[in-house]
Amino acid sequence: MENQGKKMLESAQSLIIKTGKKLGLDNQLIKRLIEPEMVHEFNFPVKMDNGEIKLFKGFRIQHNSALGPYKGGIRFHPQVNREESQALATLMSIKCSVAGLPYGGGKGGVVLNPKELSEDELERLSRKYVDQIAAFIGENIDVPAPDVNTNPKIMAWMLDEYEKIIGRKSPATFTGKPIEKGGSLGRTEATGRGGVIILNALLSKLRKKSHSIAVQGFGNVGYYFAKIAAESGFKVVAVSDSRGGVLVKDGLDPQTTLKCKNEKGSVAGCYCRGSVCDLSFGQPISNEELLELPVDVLVPAALENVINEKNMKKIKAKIIIEMANGPLTEEAYEYLNEKGVIIVPDVLANSGGVTVSYLEWVQGKQGYWWTEEEVNQRLKDSLEKAFAGIWQKSQSKKISLKQAAFETAIERIVAAMR
Ligand code: GLU
Repeated sequence: MENQGKKMLESAQSLIIKTGKKLGLDNQLIKRLIEPEMVHEFNFPVKMDNGEIKLFKGFRIQHNSALGPYKGGIRFHPQVNREESQALATLMSIKCSVAGLPYGGGKGGVVLNPKELSEDELERLSRKYVDQIAAFIGENIDVPAPDVNTNPKIMAWMLDEYEKIIGRKSPATFTGKPIEKGGSLGRTEATGRGGVIILNALLSKLRKKSHSIAVQGFGNVGYYFAKIAAESGFKVVAVSDSRGGVLVKDGLDPQTTLKCKNEKGSVAGCYCRGSVCDLSFGQPISNEELLELPVDVLVPAALENVINEKNMKKIKAKIIIEMANGPLTEEAYEYLNEKGVIIVPDVLANSGGVTVSYLEWVQGKQGYWWTEEEVNQRLKDSLEKAFAGIWQKSQSKKISLKQAAFETAIERIVAAMR
C-alpha cells in the first residue's frame, strides 16, 4: 500500500521550508522546525482474548515544544506509521500556534484495526500503550488526546493506567476524557462545532450565503460538523463513512442518520429526513462520488490525501473546509487553490478540538469546571479571533489562508524558540 503518511510529511515539511525561507529564517532554524525533537517508536505485547500474545507497534512523536507542552491525539488505525505520526505531530505544532494555544505539537498512534479487537482487548492495548509512553508524558510535558478511532473511554483507561504508574492523580495529562473523569463539557462536539464556527466566519467575510454541504466521514468530527451545520440552517445533502455514503438532495437529518448507522453499522442505506428514514428519500453514493458532488461546501472529515491528483479536476465545490488532517495532497491543494477554490486549512478548520482540549486542561489544573455555554463561548471567541487574524493576513498579503496560517504559526514558534 502507498505510504500516505510519507506524502503528508513531505508536504508539511516543504511548506515549512517555503514559509521559513519567505520569512528569512536561516537554515538551522528551518531545520529545527522540521525535525521532531523526539521520536518514540516501540513494540509491545498484548494478551488477546484467546490467550495468544500479539505484538503491536506504537509511536509517540514530540515535534516541537517551544510554545508549551507537546499536545496531540493518539490514533488507532492500520495505516499508522512513523511518517504519518510525524506529519500529524508537525501539523499539531502549527495548529496549536495558529489557534493561539500555549502548546507545542505531538502525535501518537498504534498500528491496528480497532474493528478486529474486542472491548477487553482494546482496554488492555490502551493500557499497555500508556506503559510505554508514561515516562515521557505529563500535564506539563506532553498531553495526549483522542484522534481517529480513539475516544473518551479510551482516554479514561489511559489516564487510569498513567495515574497508577505515577502514584497520584493527574487529570490534566490527558484531554478528551469523559465528563465524570474530569473531561470538559463541549469537548466531544468541539471539533465539529469549531468547523461550523469557522465556516460561518468565512461566509460572513465573503458576504455569501452557502447552503448545500457534503461531509465525508461520519466519525466524531464529521458527525458533529453535519449535526451542528444542519442545526444552523445549512442543508447537509450527503454523508459517508468507510463503508459508503448517502445522497439526500432535500437535506438529511444527521441525528436520525446516526441512529440508523448505529443499528446497521454504516450510514450506507440510511436516507433519513426528520425522524424518518426511507429508501425513496435518497440514493447510494460512494466516497469518491461524494467528493465530486456539485455542492457549495465540501467537508472532508475522514482521512488524509482523499483529494489528490486523481480526482482534483472533478471537484466542484467552491469552498473546502479541511476537517480531517491533511485531506488534500499538495498537488490537489495547489491546483484547487489556483482555480479559486477557497480552502480553509486543517490547522485552522479543525482546531476547535484542541482548543477545547486546552480549556479542559485549564479546568483540570484549576479543579474548577465551566458550564457548556461558557466553554462554547470561549471556543467561539478563540476561533473567531484566530480566523480573523489569518483572514486579515491572507487579504493584506494576497496569499492563501493556508500560507497565512503557516506564516502566523511559524512566526510565533520562532519567537518562542529564540
Ligand atoms: N486529535 C485532534 C487533532 O488532531 C485533537 C488533539 C488534541 O485535542 O490534543 O487536532
